[in-house]
Amino acid sequence: MSWDIASLFSDDTEADRAFRAEVRDFVRDNCPPELKRHGFRIDPPALKPWHRRLYERGWAAPHWPKEYGGMGATLTQQIILFEEIVRAGAPTPYPHGLNFIGPIIIKAGTEEQKARFLPSILSGEATWCQGYSEAGAGSDLASLNTRAVLDGDHFVVNGHKMWTTNGHYADWMFALVRTDPEAKPRHAGISMLLIDMRTPGITVKPIQTLKGDAEFAEEFFDNVRVPQENLLGGINQGWRIAGMVLGGERFTTGHPRYALVYLNQARQIAKETGAWDNPTFRARLTELEIDLLAFLAYYRQAAKLHGANAAPLSMAPVIKIAGGGLAQRSSELLMLAAGGRGPSVEDFPLQSGPVNIGSELFEMRRLSIGSGTLEINRNIIAKRVLGLPDE
Ligand SMILES: Cc1cc2nc3c(=O)[nH]c(=O)nc-3n(C[C@H](O)[C@H](O)[C@H](O)COP(=O)(O)OP(=O)(O)OC[C@H]3O[C@@H](n4cnc5c(N)ncnc54)[C@H](O)[C@@H]3O)c2cc1C
Repeated sequence: MSWDIASLFSDDTEADRAFRAEVRDFVRDNCPPELKRHGFRIDPPALKPWHRRLYERGWAAPHWPKEYGGMGATLTQQIILFEEIVRAGAPTPYPHGLNFIGPIIIKAGTEEQKARFLPSILSGEATWCQGYSEAGAGSDLASLNTRAVLDGDHFVVNGHKMWTTNGHYADWMFALVRTDPEAKPRHAGISMLLIDMRTPGITVKPIQTLKGDAEFAEEFFDNVRVPQENLLGGINQGWRIAGMVLGGERFTTGHPRYALVYLNQARQIAKETGAWDNPTFRARLTELEIDLLAFLAYYRQAAKLHGANAAPLSMAPVIKIAGGGLAQRSSELLMLAAGGRGPSVEDFPLQSGPVNIGSELFEMRRLSIGSGTLEINRNIIAKRVLGLPDE
């Protein structure tokens, strides 16, 4: 079975079909082949040329308004663009600039901040990271302790951030910092600062993951002076403006591309190892394919509602839980497809490019934790959607 998203949904108009064909040709001709078959964590420098191509075509930020250099695309166009990139197994650019901080700057930034930061986010020239979590402040983010104290026209920042995806590659961090330690509730004393990562006093240390590479880093702030004009959205407004994009982050974690690529790889591997003739493998593959079809339809509908600001609260956590789970189960199927060769540290050679099965399996474990752990997302559904009591 091969996945042709266009044939899954019958509501494409003639204009949609033309746009879909244009995107499909563009992705085929412009996305570097090694990115299409690459495992999932692609370092920002390797992703930049692809981001640049999308930018030059005017498609890097379909969801941004035209006045800020975005595509001002209709929702249908945004979905088509996304689906066609996914269909080709190509990556989407890192979300930290384009999807997280960019939209916040558009909504809450001053005109100077927009002019200064948006162009390099759009072109992919500047790499951004999200400085929220700290040791002891992950699920309970409102307890964060990194302090920022106003001294003249600068904030002086002291503290420690960790688990920062791409922290060791980033030019800029959007950081939540404590500006009022007495505030009640605690989240009312938090602000958002845009921090130049080359500022003296910042030490960045990559953190090695189970997979063996470094997806994230920790940063130590020692009397780091951040100009007051880098405060985004006003003093003690950090929690409010950070909330503008959290749902979007869960959409990213539940991205269907992971499962789609793994299932395609599992098919190829199984044909080489003979697992294709194993009824257990075939049953699990079919089950996952059905789940993926259902999830693609849900994701498409959710994206439409999200874009129209009409998504129910349940959708983002459901996407994180269901999409992340599907990706994890699909990575486990790679192991079943490879049989005895699965646990090897060697890459499995495929015509479409080598796959390191153990690495992919480990890579997908992170989906249980990033953008709010599974438990926290289940709590949101239980308490805020279903209204269940604490006990
Ligand atoms: C791949 C990856 C990328 C990340 N990228 C970033 C990033 O770019 N920027 C950033 O700021 N952070 C990032 N993080 C950090 C992430 O947001 C935190 O790890 C996450 O919020 C959990 O926090 P914690 O690690 O402190 O665990 P804790 O909050 O200490 O949780 C430990 C365990 O307790 C459970 N738990 C905690 N509270 C409850 C509760 N109330 N009810 C039930 N169970 C509970 C959790 O589910 C978890 O199993 C990333 C994490 C990962 C894995």
